[in-house]
Amino acid sequence: MLAASPRRRLGIDARGYAAPARQIRSPNRDARPAGTVVSLIVVHGISLPPGEFGGEGIVQLFTNRLDPAGHPYYAAIAGIRVSAHFLIRRDGELVQFVGCNERAWHAGVSAWKGKARCNDFSIGIELEGADDVPYTAAQYTSLARLVRALRRAYPIADVAGHSDIAPSRKTDPGPAFDWARLRRLLAPRSR
Ligand SMILES: [Zn+2]
Repeated sequence: MLAASPRRRLGIDARGYAAPARQIRSPNRDARPAGTVVSLIVVHGISLPPGEFGGEGIVQLFTNRLDPAGHPYYAAIAGIRVSAHFLIRRDGELVQFVGCNERAWHAGVSAWKGKARCNDFSIGIELEGADDVPYTAAQYTSLARLVRALRRAYPIADVAGHSDIAPSRKTDPGPAFDWARLRRLLAPRSR
């Protein structure tokens, strides 16, 4: 795949949509509480079926089209209503399901620095992956680009993992996620 030039800037428009990203609307969204300041990015890992990459399961889950008969695991989760603002696939492709000014349903019961209900004030980014499988170089590049664009558009104070905001329930993005690598990619370039 020919990747977009890394110098090309990713932009977030006034309504919270990223260009260029593949847009797929999720119905699993609603308004943020009035006056909410979007200050947190939550990094997740997901694969459907678990441990398999490249299928349509994640998109189907986030658009309420997952077939309960499609895989034994799907029967248990087909009824849940979840979404994230973004998905970054293994090849780095960026998919957007919910505009950033709206609330996506990715965090569940959660808290960050004493503030509960992280969905209210966060942007959720799913990486297609599994806790113990290295994420791809294309995903780190795409994630860093997205985080930089979001920082230009919103007063983002922190980037945390789902496991950081719901430690008793969630393990994603897992030990395979290299936080130091993301930090290096986000560091201002010295020259
Ligand atoms: Zn998660």
